[in-house]
Amino acid sequence: MSGGKRDHGDHSHDDHGHNHGHDHDHDHGHSHSHADAPHPPQRDHDADDMSAYEVLEEAVRSLLVEKGVLTNAEIAGQVDLMDSRSPALGAKVIAKAWADPAYKKHLLADTRAALSDVGIDIGTLADFRTVENTPKVHNVIVCTLCSCYPKLLLGIPPAWYKSLAYRSRVVIDPRSVLDEFGVRLKPAVEVRVHDATADLRYLVLPMRPKDTEGWSEEKLAAIVTRDSMVGTAVPAVPGAAAAE
Ligand code: FE
Repeated sequence: MSGGKRDHGDHSHDDHGHNHGHDHDHDHGHSHSHADAPHPPQRDHDADDMSAYEVLEEAVRSLLVEKGVLTNAEIAGQVDLMDSRSPALGAKVIAKAWADPAYKKHLLADTRAALSDVGIDIGTLADFRTVENTPKVHNVIVCTLCSCYPKLLLGIPPAWYKSLAYRSRVVIDPRSVLDEFGVRLKPAVEVRVHDATADLRYLVLPMRPKDTEGWSEEKLAAIVTRDSMVGTAVPAVPGAAAAE
């Protein structure tokens, strides 16, 4: 009944091997008593030996700089650019698609070109697709292998997106996982799970909620959440019931 269709592309994950077995989620529940159990000293992030991937990254980076292919300033600039990305960027694109039917058609047909129209360059990424939620189809994105994510539009992925539990369960039983996220789909709605890769990223175009007629793009963008563009949430008008 859950109909979890997999759209499995070719996985050639050359750009983020560092995510494997390297959990950065340092979220401690501080419910314990500090009186009887003082904290152990926190280790510096770089206190351990470099991993093979870190050694590889440093070697390749130094060579690129040494050979004059890239400068350190250009690398730092790209890191700053990536750090500056946030879901607000994706929300602007979704709001524009909601407000402008021609832009929506363009976004669904050729995401690369439509993003380029609003000044977002997807660079060397081979493909970027937008999948549209409708009353009959709900789309959700995962990277079953690691953490491929539309960073260009949403910034750094949340820890749960990289978790083994999400990656393994959402492809097998998407309806239950969505239910846990608070997305309760009617049984007739088909769930499509899209497996992102290093070469292919997805963006979910959520359904525009009711009672938003006449809203400006800015006002619409404010209700487009990060998770709604991954498919694990549905945008809602504050104070109103969810639209799906
Ligand atoms: Fe990945």
